[in-house]
Amino acid sequence: MSEKAKVYFGSIQQGQDAIFAALAVKIDKIIELLDFSTIKKRDKVAIKMHLGFQDGHQTVPVFFVRRIVKAVKRVGGWPFITDNPTAVYNAVDRGYTQETCGCPIIPAAGVKDGYVHSVSVGYNNVDTLEMSGVIHDADALIDLTHAKGHACSGYGGAIKNLALGGYSAPSRWNKIHGVEHSIPYWDAKKCTPEHAQALVKACPYNALKYDAEKHKLSLLLYACRNQLCLECLEADKEVGCLEIKPEFFAAFQELMAITSKKVLDTFDENKRFFVNFILQVTPHCDCMGMIQPSVVADIGVLGSRNIVAIENATLDLIAKAGLIEQTIPPYFKHVNLDPNIDLHPFERLWGSMKNPYLVVGFAEQYGLGTRKYELVEVLPPEETGKMEPPKQVYERQPSFY
Ligand code: SF4
Repeated sequence: MSEKAKVYFGSIQQGQDAIFAALAVKIDKIIELLDFSTIKKRDKVAIKMHLGFQDGHQTVPVFFVRRIVKAVKRVGGWPFITDNPTAVYNAVDRGYTQETCGCPIIPAAGVKDGYVHSVSVGYNNVDTLEMSGVIHDADALIDLTHAKGHACSGYGGAIKNLALGGYSAPSRWNKIHGVEHSIPYWDAKKCTPEHAQALVKACPYNALKYDAEKHKLSLLLYACRNQLCLECLEADKEVGCLEIKPEFFAAFQELMAITSKKVLDTFDENKRFFVNFILQVTPHCDCMGMIQPSVVADIGVLGSRNIVAIENATLDLIAKAGLIEQTIPPYFKHVNLDPNIDLHPFERLWGSMKNPYLVVGFAEQYGLGTRKYELVEVLPPEETGKMEPPKQVYERQPSFY
């Protein structure tokens, strides 16, 4: 039986209204427990973030990024933040600069997204991928992640941050997202052009596209709500040319486990750290470039040296918190809120074929870590609630620090 991995947890909840009971102090404590001492002096430390896109600013707050950067510097490492070139170039719009973060922000695959290392994958229709060269060059990795929903996999977390974020744009968008085309779902011979148009019309989420010239019906993974909807199957029941099947949805998650492993394999096991922020949990990914309502109450922050354990724990905490029904956007037309059906909040939004635990299971299967974890809460409210209250809370005169 494999050992449980430690996952450190700092709750947003605090035992009293005092700085020592609040999240910033808990993050410092989690970093201390993660023990950055395995980062050697002058190690180049890639802090892989998703820096958002356009108006999508609900990523890891710069306030916390700065603390993590400082902690890397304290052990002698040379940190830099990295993400795709577009996110880096306009990161300033969302508050991320060298001055605010405390370290350079470098495009993960160079200024033209072309500084890459080709890696062999061999999964379905994905032969090779172009891994971002700057991440490949780094000595240590901090996978600093905003936990949120994701249209393709239900959940986007630490695995997704590397699985897609660790590769250049053509690999991400054409190959990794293109894996859905490797699973057959439509029988062209059984389907007339008129029927194909009727199927497109039946879909309330525009998840079906028909190219009349090529007589090709495409099912779009990100848009499809699978079991929550199935209106296309109703329209297809007399013909039976279309299938909505679990393998179609699972392939993306399996590939994510494989591609994140490729990135992790370029780092020494002692130089990989994972930090997940479960704050502002939006239904979509940060790359949507828009402000979104939070659909789960803020939970806190997790830190671990085991990517599978931290992802499993993150999903468990989100499951425990549940959805905030009032903030679910109206464009989710088929949400399943039945309390008698055991579904993860992201399955309730995206459909259970986008089960967010799938990627965690695949990641364990491919040897990225263990799903078994011990949740170690730092400075829990029960503890901080009993501490000596602060003598002075308010600044009564300028203190300048
Ligand atoms: S299941 Fe629903 S969302 Fe998916 S393709 Fe069919 S109609 Fe569209």
